[in-house]
Amino acid sequence: MSRPNNYFTALAGVPIHYARYADSRYAYGTRGKPYKFYATEAFERKLEACFDDLWETCPYGQAEVITSAGAYVNKMGYHGKGRAFDLDAIFWHDRTFITRDYPLQKEFYLGVEAVLRKHFGTVLNYLYNSAHRDHFHVDDGTEVKFYSASKSRVLFVQAAIVHVFDIPIAIDGDWGNETEGAIDQTFERLTIQEDIQDRDVWLHFLARIAETGFNIVQPEPEERTPLNLIHDLYSIIGEELKDSAVRKPMEAALNTFVNHEETQEWLKKYE
Ligand SMILES: [Zn+2]
Repeated sequence: MSRPNNYFTALAGVPIHYARYADSRYAYGTRGKPYKFYATEAFERKLEACFDDLWETCPYGQAEVITSAGAYVNKMGYHGKGRAFDLDAIFWHDRTFITRDYPLQKEFYLGVEAVLRKHFGTVLNYLYNSAHRDHFHVDDGTEVKFYSASKSRVLFVQAAIVHVFDIPIAIDGDWGNETEGAIDQTFERLTIQEDIQDRDVWLHFLARIAETGFNIVQPEPEERTPLNLIHDLYSIIGEELKDSAVRKPMEAALNTFVNHEETQEWLKKYE
């Protein structure tokens, strides 16, 4: 399909910028520059509804800038149909949310993702594969519904159970007894009746994940104590080097530093 004629420069009242330039002033993680994003009108309306919902749900309200890596792109798949969108970051007056920082703000990230999932069947996140560590991909190629055979949906639910509802289970994308049991436990706590595969139940569960995730917001880096920052380091090593051979020696070196008598002495001040 060729490029749709329809384009947008704002969504739900918020300018949408491109921030993938080599120039560091407009590079990934900055507010970028105004840009025209092409998509079908129907898909644009879905994005509008999604961000309206986010401004309403999120305690920071309406954002100031959204950055995107693209909507219509001349390639295969839903980007080529004008029915996909890549979300890099959202800038509120009081908070910056950059998708690459998942290891540092998992609860907030999963809250945003829960809202995206209320509007789009397909959402690919940080945990899905390394290509999606720096953006959320959303498209409407699948139904808004939970399927236990969908790796991206199972990964999201497992991460929400671990980081938003504090039940320690494996985050591996595989549906099994452990995940099912943890969902039962979470539903009981939230007084949600079965069944997660029911569309209305799924939508309600997503709303509860967003609400809970947004309520356990971590302080911004500049407000964090050295103890928080060391915890961040462990999180980043754990996520970024998950399948890497250097993970163990990195963690061992960090442990040696943290456990050193003099490090322990000054860290005590922040306990
Ligand atoms: Zn994409």
